[in-house]
Amino acid sequence: MTTGSGTTAQTPDMLLPGATLGVLGGGQLGRMFALAARVMGYRVVVLDPDPQCPAGQVADVHLKAPYTDAVALMRMGELCQAVTTEFENVPASSLEMLARRTRVAPAPHIVQLAQDRLHEKVCASKFGCETAPYANVEDAGDLVHAWSQLSAPGLLKTRRMGYDGKGQMRADDLDALVAAHAALGGVPCLFEGLLAIEREFSVVLARNAQGGIAFFPLAENVHRQGILDMSIVPARLPESVAEQARQMARRIAEGLGYVGVLAVEFFLLADGRVVFNEMAPRPHNSGHYTLDACVTDQFEQQVRALCGLPLGDTRLLSPVVMVNLLGDLWAQGPRWEALLKHPGVKLHLYGKVEARPGRKMGHYNCLAPTLEEALALALETRRAMGIG
Ligand code: ADP
Ligand code: MG
Repeated sequence: MTTGSGTTAQTPDMLLPGATLGVLGGGQLGRMFALAARVMGYRVVVLDPDPQCPAGQVADVHLKAPYTDAVALMRMGELCQAVTTEFENVPASSLEMLARRTRVAPAPHIVQLAQDRLHEKVCASKFGCETAPYANVEDAGDLVHAWSQLSAPGLLKTRRMGYDGKGQMRADDLDALVAAHAALGGVPCLFEGLLAIEREFSVVLARNAQGGIAFFPLAENVHRQGILDMSIVPARLPESVAEQARQMARRIAEGLGYVGVLAVEFFLLADGRVVFNEMAPRPHNSGHYTLDACVTDQFEQQVRALCGLPLGDTRLLSPVVMVNLLGDLWAQGPRWEALLKHPGVKLHLYGKVEARPGRKMGHYNCLAPTLEEALALALETRRAMGIG
């Protein structure tokens, strides 16, 4: 669905195939960006200190240096006509340094905003999105006040660097909150009220510098132990809920003047309310289904938005269920035959050298004529692989 042609941003030149694009971060998201860019005839430069990182394996140039290395950033700025990021925790100063030399999208200040749960929630509220009730815990001195603000069980989440459920602990009373804060290292946190969640889902959209927005079909997300386990598409949600979430995501993207792929996680509560959870200034794990099930996938869309090209068609071609493959499976060796014997299963592995429990090693998409069949295929293959 592509709409609008805003008037806010200047239209940058289109960067056409043959240009060189850079990505900060060499994980799986950087790898899939690099693959999409190369398919379209772009050259790709990756900056990541790990010599064996997933994106470095498929890039034209891999700059192996820390994200703060001024010489490497300078080199990247010289080589690349545009640079994006695959994760939000790159230092904003590095993005700013690059932005003085070349096109950078999303904008450094927006990436910085998405590094901090407090700033994210303040931003969401500003654009009219409901969030969980929360109290800011700058340091231990704020804990008593934070508890009195909520006076109910909640999750203490570190404001920065949390992912896959890491950096958060449940607290049911003040003593537990104090203990949780100490266990999380006493860093700045948010204490968030525990919500009665009916469904989790996400909106992934792309916005280009001309102001055009394209939404991917919403994904219904199932988590296990704080980590995304499956995405189900089309999401089993009332259309009114989907539309509310799209409008919320649109207000954030337009309000920020965002350029790039943006993912917004939502909760549908038992009472029907749609609540903003968090956002990511990049493609998202819950958008991996698009690799096989949409006309344009989220990484091609990232390339298009970065290069100022028209956004691609996001139409869903087939019902799909995505299943994440975590490192736990590698303890015994994954049973690939059990997966690959199904013609409707599409496997994606990230080339990670070391498997650890909870580490995302790959995913697969189950495609079938109906969502029921796609779900059945996902459940059957999970059983056969020994997942869950
Ligand atoms: P992460 O950055 O680790 O993804 P999230 O804030 O998305 O952190 O939390 C991870 C998961 O924890 C969510 O997907 C959801 O299942 C659960 N969760 C998060 N916040 C709440 C809340 N306020 N109430 C109930 N469950 C929550
Ligand atoms: Mg999350």
